Amino acid sequence: MSPASPSHPTDLLGRPLRNLRVSVTDRCNLRCRYCMPESEYVWLPRASILTFEEMDRVAGVFAGLGVAKVRLTGGEPLLRHDLATLVALLARHADIGDLALTTNGVLLERQAAALRDAGLRRVTVSLDTLRPERMREFARSARHTDVVAGIDAARAAGFSSLKLNTVIIRGYNEDEVLDLMEFARGRGAEPRFIEYMDVGGATGWSMDQVVSQREILEVVARRYGPVEPLREGQWAPAERFALRDGTVFGVIASTTAPFCRTCDRARLTADGTFLLCLYGEEGVDLRQLLRGGATDAEISAAIAAAWRARADRGAEERAGLSERGVLHRIESLRADPRREMHTRGG
Ligand code: SAM
Ligand code: SF4
Ligand code: SF4
Repeated sequence: MSPASPSHPTDLLGRPLRNLRVSVTDRCNLRCRYCMPESEYVWLPRASILTFEEMDRVAGVFAGLGVAKVRLTGGEPLLRHDLATLVALLARHADIGDLALTTNGVLLERQAAALRDAGLRRVTVSLDTLRPERMREFARSARHTDVVAGIDAARAAGFSSLKLNTVIIRGYNEDEVLDLMEFARGRGAEPRFIEYMDVGGATGWSMDQVVSQREILEVVARRYGPVEPLREGQWAPAERFALRDGTVFGVIASTTAPFCRTCDRARLTADGTFLLCLYGEEGVDLRQLLRGGATDAEISAAIAAAWRARADRGAEERAGLSERGVLHRIESLRADPRREMHTRGG
């Protein structure tokens, strides 16, 4: 990590604030079983959702504190009308060099080119299965063809990076690791396999459904031969790996071996709550400041003060528990929908 400048706060563990995930909506057009398994949800009131102008203003304040990477997520970000307009606003911040999107891809085909033209640099599409019947069962959607068309459109639009995210779950799709690898390679995309996490929303989570990074790497190595870890962070263990032929792929040990020590990531919910950790309970209500007439300097001071007091290591603490069950039951999620993964942004 580079030394922090006076205007760039570091937290109690010396971690800078460099990365911001903005959830642009809590709504979604899929119902993935590991994220939105329930039949009904408590949505954020529409009037509380930040406007593009408010998001842009907050992003500018974060950029002044050292944030150089912004990822738009949700919920399903492409459900937010005219997302390219937000991208164009954010792309004007010279300090934000990396503008990315995580999407389920269902609506991507028609929007990919406009997003690219607006200044979006990188796209990650979530693709958990190559089998439409599995998606129908697992995400309650018959839109598999649209997701694949969205991936192809993203490829054609020429983003600087295209990744495919897969949450591997035992008993569901652990038999598709190699097929997904081939699918991604064939489309010039980087596959990323993610361990099933016990985040808010995952009300059916259990440890026995988690397929570990180690297991996934073993499956890959059995098929392709030795797998080389790519050392990218100074301290963090590798999350990206290379095959002998140079193919790069990711396997994220977010559950079995999380590495919170290097976490420089903050989150903004769609209603403007600034969260310090994916597992964090308390947030800072930036909407109140934005709509209450606070200056940029005041908003910046509130963000910096919260970051300086940050000691969160949510996933590491969960990994340290001797008995690990679900994080939140449905009643607790209904009491505060900001605990949901689809509200705080994955
Ligand atoms: N709807 C978009 C999508 O699915 O890409 C963006 C939001 S979604 C919450 C962001 C990412 O979080 C997705 O890649 C999804 O697979 C991941 N995710 C959601 N719940 C998860 C869980 N319980 N464990 C691991 N990853 C999860
Ligand atoms: Fe699935 Fe993303 Fe929607 Fe969650 S927010 S249900 S992961 S598509
Ligand atoms: Fe960062 Fe919290 Fe995730 Fe750990 S659990 S990596 S501190 S967001």
